[in-house]
Amino acid sequence: MSSPIWHPFTQHGLEEPIPLVTHAEGAALYTADGRRVIDAISSWWVTTHGHRHPRIMAAIADQAARMDQIIFAGWTHEPAEQVAQGLIEIMPHALTRVFFSDSGSTSVEVALKMALGFWVNRGERRHRILVLEHSYHGDTIGTMSAGARGAFTRQYEPLLFDVGTIPFPDSGAEQRTLDALEAACREHPAAFIVEPLVLGAGGMRFYSPAVLAEMRRICAAHGVLFIADEVMTGWGRTGTLLACEQADVVPDILCLSKGLTGGSVPLAVTMASEAIYRAHYATDRARMFFHSSSYTANPIACAAAAANLAIWREEPVLERVALLATRQREAIDAIADHPKVKNPRSYGTVAAFELGSGQSRYLSDLGPRLLAFFRGRDLLLRPLGNTIYVMPPYCIDEADFGAIHAAIAEAIETTG
Ligand SMILES: *Cc1c(COP(=O)(O)O)cnc(C)c1O
Repeated sequence: MSSPIWHPFTQHGLEEPIPLVTHAEGAALYTADGRRVIDAISSWWVTTHGHRHPRIMAAIADQAARMDQIIFAGWTHEPAEQVAQGLIEIMPHALTRVFFSDSGSTSVEVALKMALGFWVNRGERRHRILVLEHSYHGDTIGTMSAGARGAFTRQYEPLLFDVGTIPFPDSGAEQRTLDALEAACREHPAAFIVEPLVLGAGGMRFYSPAVLAEMRRICAAHGVLFIADEVMTGWGRTGTLLACEQADVVPDILCLSKGLTGGSVPLAVTMASEAIYRAHYATDRARMFFHSSSYTANPIACAAAAANLAIWREEPVLERVALLATRQREAIDAIADHPKVKNPRSYGTVAAFELGSGQSRYLSDLGPRLLAFFRGRDLLLRPLGNTIYVMPPYCIDEADFGAIHAAIAEAIETTG
């Protein structure tokens, strides 16, 4: 019996096995055929503390016993209020408003719409969006437009809107990036959107806090709105709660999702400065922010996020993050001199390198071979082409961590 399911980012024509997962716990997934698989990529970057954190599971069960879902246009509920208050307390204080949505992509769509609404409501015709080369902001038409053009977007190119692309700040070429941004900002764009410090889907590319701070300064000097997409980098991934913290950067708009619920259920927020909120605030209904989805601020998802915030307040999350970051650095150092390992690097809890050719290429045929290799070793590791990266949940223990890097060492020897 074959399944009618059409899976995301899956070429069914290759008939790769699609394991049936029955349960998950901590850093492990368990399959129907009796395997224990180590989740080395946090189930696509969402699981922060580990699968089924007891406090998050309890909060979901408790909320499900009281209220499942209500309309959020003109109504509110306790879990949403708790999440909003909790975010206001721990996120940069200039971000005073919290808008809910359901995924990283929608949080970015909301950010882009807020930026455009800000300028329209102020009576200025500014709509151009600046983006950083190699960025990824989601798979909807709007977020693909704001992201890198390539294998992911080729088929949809005619529908994508035009953006200004600022070259990526490769090590040694930072000034070129800053000069290009400065020049582009002089033409009065609406906003610049960036993934702070770590570009995820674009190949785990890192750049320095100094460049991030300088990019923010240039935008501020020209009155260009600065949007930080921390959908992946937020919630400790880079070593701090937000990546922006490391550069003392406060954006005008902040996108959060993935780790917002600890990676348990879908939820996103877009946080905005008071100025952006005020641009939409009026007695004129035509100026309101025209965005919603049916499940905006779903109470069960908000209860999970409120529990995540409590975990951040009460558990030593940043200590776990620091420990994992140290181990990642050591693991990368251990393979750094191997001739097949190119560009070995780690940033916070993320470690990466290219195997074989130093260029990162998503459709490299090495990708599927590596995927199969890691599957055979009961590891959930999904290289981005020939870029191998490890991004585990913070709870991962020594044994599982060692198993991941042992398998990678074996892959380096036997493939490429
Ligand atoms: C994953 C990701 C998104 C999209 O989030 P979804 O929840 O998959 O829609 C947006 N931006 C960044 C930086 C991401 O890593």
